[in-house]
Amino acid sequence: MSIDPISALIGAANPWEWWRGVDDLWRWGVHAQAIWAYDAADDDTRREIRRQRVASMIEHARTRSAFYRAHWRHVPPGCADLSAYPPVNRKLLMAGFDDWVVDPDLRKAELLKFVADPGRIAEPYLGKYAIWTSSGTTGVPGIYVQDADALALYSALMTCRFELGASFGGAGRSLAEPARLAFVAAIDGHFAGVVSWERQRRLHPAIAASSRAFSILQPLPRLVAELNAWRPAFVATYPTMLTLLARERCEGRLAIEPQALWCGGEGLTQADRAAIEQAFGCPVVEDYGASECMNMAFACRHGRLHVNDDWVVLEPIDEQGRPVPAGQPSASVLITNLANRVQPLVRYDLSDSVTVDDTPCDCGRRQPSVRIEGRRDDVLVLPAAGHGVASVRILPLAIETVIEEEAGVHRFQLTQTAPGAMSLRLDLADEADRAAAFASVRRAVARFLKGQGARPVKLALDSQPPEANPVSGKLRQVRAMPAAQPAR
Ligand SMILES: [Zn+2]
Repeated sequence: MSIDPISALIGAANPWEWWRGVDDLWRWGVHAQAIWAYDAADDDTRREIRRQRVASMIEHARTRSAFYRAHWRHVPPGCADLSAYPPVNRKLLMAGFDDWVVDPDLRKAELLKFVADPGRIAEPYLGKYAIWTSSGTTGVPGIYVQDADALALYSALMTCRFELGASFGGAGRSLAEPARLAFVAAIDGHFAGVVSWERQRRLHPAIAASSRAFSILQPLPRLVAELNAWRPAFVATYPTMLTLLARERCEGRLAIEPQALWCGGEGLTQADRAAIEQAFGCPVVEDYGASECMNMAFACRHGRLHVNDDWVVLEPIDEQGRPVPAGQPSASVLITNLANRVQPLVRYDLSDSVTVDDTPCDCGRRQPSVRIEGRRDDVLVLPAAGHGVASVRILPLAIETVIEEEAGVHRFQLTQTAPGAMSLRLDLADEADRAAAFASVRRAVARFLKGQGARPVKLALDSQPPEANPVSGKLRQVRAMPAAQPAR
């Protein structure tokens, strides 16, 4: 492939990538200044900034999105009270997708073709948008479109507020060798994490040279060998993967010496954090985000997740949709993303149970913090096929990804019933659909577990529907036998 001189000089694949990189940096700079100004402002000024952003997003959604215009037809124009606007959910938005987005060039039918092609992960859609998908536990796959400003804002929030701390980029590292980053995740689909990661690599060649993505779908010993060869100073992954890696580190198989570990996507308990930090001798930094809104909250050094309240509104609600006060766990949470305008999300039901803490924190940040309940499935411990080891450990997110992406089943519950047996619950009423879904899941799971080095597992179809947590309403998709819980 021929390459122009500017692209060759800065290492970009083509001049458009180069231009997008410059554009992204410029937008990042504007946002970074606004974030610093917000952090330095007094409480009244902050409140006013939030009020203006909420009013502006409501006005934008109402004038540019046919979906919101219809959905809010009973709310008087100009109403400044956010709680007066009826909430939305993924099912509603995906059903009205073409009316929801504000750019008429975005069409659900075309986007479905785009996300079906793994060769197009992180490709700028229509030359400007980032596209990612999410299956989640609601049973309806979502397609999310982010505009250039939202993407630059997510980066600016990371830069200005994410406490990688002095540990990263700090002592003991030679300037001749830039710190290597490892991103360990589901990387074979259009997921928010890998799209964001890959996009940064495309836009900023300096990042590309020092970062590598690793698939969670590969067997753990292979992942450990690849990480040992890469020697990352910084590892970004899920809390459950960090607990697996911490065990590998303690038992001497994983030899990396990271300066910081990043995790998100699942809840992190204080006990897990302590065990991981002890195993690696470095800090664990956590963030709370979703495909619908990246970087909603960042943990401080005291372990509290402070909300980026200048760019996202979180409204904890009970089962009837009424507000839940600080200090009490909610049934769900409505989020309003104030950054992304191409696909407005106003009062979106995320179904996470959160507890807001608005008491002062020793770190000095004035943003309230949240605790996320139950966003976490179990690591499965299964008998190994070979003679070298007794058992293999299966990451819940890996087996969930296989069931969702390969078998195409999105609302299920997999429960380990014996060391080598599991049962599957499906949310399908039709008998023929159930049988077909079960056959697909059984095939996909058998193939995946074989690749992981596990002995074949007996999988039974349970006639009951998936069972959600009676308090939070959240569905745990992968549940281990109580005795098979990994040592914490
Ligand atoms: Zn704090």
